[in-house]
Amino acid sequence: MEKIAALCKRRGFVFPGSDIYGGLANTWDYGPLGVELKRNVKDLWWRTFVHHRRDIVGLDAGILMHPKVWEASGHIESFNDPLVDCRTCRSRFRADHLIEERLGLNVEGKSPATMTQILREQAVKCPVCGNETLTEARQFNMMFATTIGPLAETGMQVYLRPETAQAMFVQFKNILATGRVKVPFGIAQIGKVFRNEITPGNFIFRLLEFEQMEIEYFVKPDEAPESFETWQGAMRNWLRAIGIRDEFIRVREHDADELSHYSSRTIDFEYLFPGSMGWRELYGLANRTDFDLRQHQTSSGEDLQYFDQEENRKYLPYVIEPTFGVDRTCL
Ligand SMILES: [Zn+2]
Repeated sequence: MEKIAALCKRRGFVFPGSDIYGGLANTWDYGPLGVELKRNVKDLWWRTFVHHRRDIVGLDAGILMHPKVWEASGHIESFNDPLVDCRTCRSRFRADHLIEERLGLNVEGKSPATMTQILREQAVKCPVCGNETLTEARQFNMMFATTIGPLAETGMQVYLRPETAQAMFVQFKNILATGRVKVPFGIAQIGKVFRNEITPGNFIFRLLEFEQMEIEYFVKPDEAPESFETWQGAMRNWLRAIGIRDEFIRVREHDADELSHYSSRTIDFEYLFPGSMGWRELYGLANRTDFDLRQHQTSSGEDLQYFDQEENRKYLPYVIEPTFGVDRTCL
C-alpha cells in the first residue's frame, strides 16, 4: 500500500494532507488527476442511478443537522468504536482490530466485555511497548462534534454527519410533497461524511472524512426482501460497469450480532485489495426496515407515513440502502 501511495503522489493523484507541515494522519488530498478520476466515478454513478432511472431523485443536504437527528437515529447512543488504551505508553487501539490482528478472530460487533475477556484470556500485549497493560475495552462515540455560535459554553453542540442517509429520511416528507414520486422510489445523495476513528492507515481506504454515494430506496414493507435482491444485482452491474472483474469481488453476509442497530440484513461487497489488506468492504447493502422513519416520526411528531392511493392505506415504507464509497472505488 505504501508503494501505491507513493506512486499516487508522484503522478498527482493523491497527496498526503497538509503535506508541507508533515501531514495530518489519515487525511489525503486529491491532486489534478485524482480529482478527475473521482469526478468521473461520481458523474457515472449519478447518471446511472439518478438520470437514467425514473424512480430515483437527488438530494444535496447540509453536513450540519439538528442534534435531535442523531438522537433519533441512534448515533449518539450506538455509533461507537470499542477502544483500549495502554496504561504504560498511552497508545490507543481499536479492540476489535487488535484481536483480529493478534488472534485472527473476527469480533466486529461483539460487546466490549466480550472483547476485554478475550484480550485477558489470551494475554494480549500492547503492540507498541510490549507490556501487558491494556485497559478494558470501552465504547467511544465516532461523531465529530463542533459548536454553532461564538462561545463554546452558550453555543449549540452539533455533529458533522457520519452518514448521508439521515438527511434523506428527514427530507422524506418534503420530497413526497413535491408530488413526483410514488413508492417504490429512491432518494440519492453524494456527499462528505466524517468519522472520528482510530484507523490503521491503509491510504485512502479508511479516512476521517470521506465521500459516500448513497441511495435510500423506499418500498412496501413486504416487498423489502425482493428489493434487496434486485439491488444486489444492480450493485453487481455497477461493479462490472466500472471495470472490476468478478473474481475480485465476494459478498459477505453480516452475522446477527454484527448488524448495525438499524438493520435487519446487511451484506458487504468485498474487494480483494493488494498486499496485506486482502478482502475488505468496498460497498454495503442494508435493509434498514422502517427504523429511521419511525424514529424520526416519534422524535419530531411529524406524520411520515406514505399514503398508498392504490391500496387506500397509510404505512411507513421499508428502506433498502445501497452505499458506495467514492474513495474506495478510486482506490
Ligand atoms: Zn504500550
